[in-house]
Amino acid sequence: MDMKGRSSLVVGNWKMNGSLALAENWAKELAALWRQAAPAAEAGLCVPSVFLDRLVRSLRAEGLEAVEPGAEDVSVREGCGAFTGEVSASMLRDAGARLCIVGHSERRTLFGESNASVVLKVKALAAQGIRPIVCVGETREEREAGRTSEVILAQVRAVLEGCGIESLSGGAFAYEPLWAIGSGAAASLEQIEPVHAAIRAALCEADAGASEKVRVLYGGSVKPANASAILALPHVDGALVGGASLKAESFYGICACGR
Ligand code: PEP
Repeated sequence: MDMKGRSSLVVGNWKMNGSLALAENWAKELAALWRQAAPAAEAGLCVPSVFLDRLVRSLRAEGLEAVEPGAEDVSVREGCGAFTGEVSASMLRDAGARLCIVGHSERRTLFGESNASVVLKVKALAAQGIRPIVCVGETREEREAGRTSEVILAQVRAVLEGCGIESLSGGAFAYEPLWAIGSGAAASLEQIEPVHAAIRAALCEADAGASEKVRVLYGGSVKPANASAILALPHVDGALVGGASLKAESFYGICACGR
């Protein structure tokens, strides 16, 4: 299919890192680079929700509208209520979030996130007009057992069937092999491309028209040195970037490789 209509989307994920001061300085440094040469890629940065308001204000102060602020997780509960510690999609929207990561493997493996809670979160985000970035990925053991497609497609289909492809409009699936995240070594191009093609086929099968508005990102040790080759793959519509998003310069270097 023709992938030319979708520009690359590069989204940073700070995880449990950073500070208010870093949010401000990061926006300043990125804006200085962006002013010299604006990349073709769309960009976003997902930060701990306590830093969101500062990030939003800093991006605005720098006139960096090309970079969308985002959160790393959201409550399954909508609106307000007696749910101590939870942050709802409407609260994220109030703070200025335009994107939100859902179902990151760290949340799935360390905090019990399930496909069922991912579905509720995507619905909550869609109701607030926040674009979800839904992470899927296989473990090394699953890959070695030849189960990669089965695992990925089960995760993708659970979300598509649970919330409908329209809830993902403007958002993305991020293919993040667990063994590549934070390892310093990304999956090879030969490993990435077929998984992305399979996710794209599942999206088309759900609804060919609506699938056009859903990107498929790659995540797992993306850095400026490997971003060009990864972002040039036919079925890769962008990247989800952990470690390399903490420095504005390396994040910019990845954005600059997008189309
Ligand atoms: C991530 O956590 O989403 C990620 C891709 O991390 P890293 O880029 O550090 O591998």
